[in-house]
Amino acid sequence: MKREDKIYLAIGNKMDNIKQIAESDDLFENEIHKVKEFYLSRSIKRKSLLEKRLQFIKKRNKNISPCFDEEYYCSTCGAKDGAEHPTTAYCFYCDTDNWTHK
Ligand SMILES: [Zn+2]
Repeated sequence: MKREDKIYLAIGNKMDNIKQIAESDDLFENEIHKVKEFYLSRSIKRKSLLEKRLQFIKKRNKNISPCFDEEYYCSTCGAKDGAEHPTTAYCFYCDTDNWTHK
């Protein structure tokens, strides 16, 4: 295999891995507990994880309307409007329970 092909393969595997973590509640939960304010992380891996997670949850919650508790913000995705899932009270955008009092 050519060196260039190996690099593309490695990048492809990494992206698959990121997608897998972003779309698994348990794996994503593990990731967010490694840093306090996940959305402020400068790591490229964490940035793409969060981006994929938000896309995935947007699809999952597309037929639901959020409730709002504006006293809290989400330390995972940084959402400040306090939008939460109406039954689990998890963040409506990233579906994690990582609230911080404002
Ligand atoms: Zn969130």
